[in-house]
Amino acid sequence: MDSEIRYSRLSRYAPLGRVLPAWQQSHCVVIGLGGLGSGLSMQLTRFGVRRITLIDRDTVGFENLGHQSLFTTAHAEAGLPKVQAAAGMLAAINPAVELDPQFADLSRHNIRELCAGATLLFDGLDSYFTRYIVNDYALQSSTPWLSAGVVRGELSMRAVVPGVTGCLRCLLPDPPPPGSVPTCSAEGVFGPLLSVANAIQLEQAGRFLAGEFTADDDAMYSLELPDWRIRRLQLNGPAQTCRACSGSYDFLSGRFDQQAAAACSDGRFELELGSAIDIEGLAAGLSAETGWEVRPNRWCLVADHGAERYTVFPNGRLVLSGTQDGSRLNHFAAHWLGL
Ligand SMILES: [Zn+2]
Repeated sequence: MDSEIRYSRLSRYAPLGRVLPAWQQSHCVVIGLGGLGSGLSMQLTRFGVRRITLIDRDTVGFENLGHQSLFTTAHAEAGLPKVQAAAGMLAAINPAVELDPQFADLSRHNIRELCAGATLLFDGLDSYFTRYIVNDYALQSSTPWLSAGVVRGELSMRAVVPGVTGCLRCLLPDPPPPGSVPTCSAEGVFGPLLSVANAIQLEQAGRFLAGEFTADDDAMYSLELPDWRIRRLQLNGPAQTCRACSGSYDFLSGRFDQQAAAACSDGRFELELGSAIDIEGLAAGLSAETGWEVRPNRWCLVADHGAERYTVFPNGRLVLSGTQDGSRLNHFAAHWLGL
């Protein structure tokens, strides 16, 4: 049997082999297809997970190619949505896996719909604010969440298993202010470390699927280069003072919408025109009259002008990233779309 051979090296490793059937019945949601999400979704595909939902709002750029293992030069040249580029690669690796690519900006408004039916949630997010939304959702829906972060030569990982462990808000009741936390775009990343973070995420998830995850597993893992100091900080379950663990889901309820807008608008601006856009016509106009790099595809049009990237969707949504000047998007809409 093809599948027996395909999974033979995994199943012969007993701790993985005994939980492989559970992996293969699971529905995993990967939130954010950066360096961590790329590696995770590839490993999940090789495990033969039943269904993978991929959620990401960005298109593939050349700056992603140094450390995001699923993307190729052709994807960047075409300006493909990351979820579509990833789905193509993953389907080629293992056609048995059901893939559900969602080209979307995860928010409190759509998280229930996008993550419905998930067995496990994984994140590889740069945005702290979105993590708080995922934290609330994980607790409310009783879905385990394997959260990790890698920046520079530093890794951190924690499993949040509702009813067993504490949560993100137990340790950090409020999101750090925007700009106060190092990001890969500002500080870079040692790409190979991403695989180590993925390994911890998947090992902890497997422990949950095997029914072996207990309160003793509530821990924060961290590793720092250049010393390779791996630390495992034992944590002690839900904090008595934690609002989320007491059932107040402030980030899902919209109590912090204003901070969300501020946190998420950092270098990224959006406009909703409320009417459809002729992508091909716009691409032809931009190509003829600007020296910009213009790449239309099935899902959107990507136009790069220096560091600025305009992404235009046929349904009337415009996104500008790579600048702090949001008025540039209004100029673009006025000039090119007559608004
Ligand atoms: Zn908590």
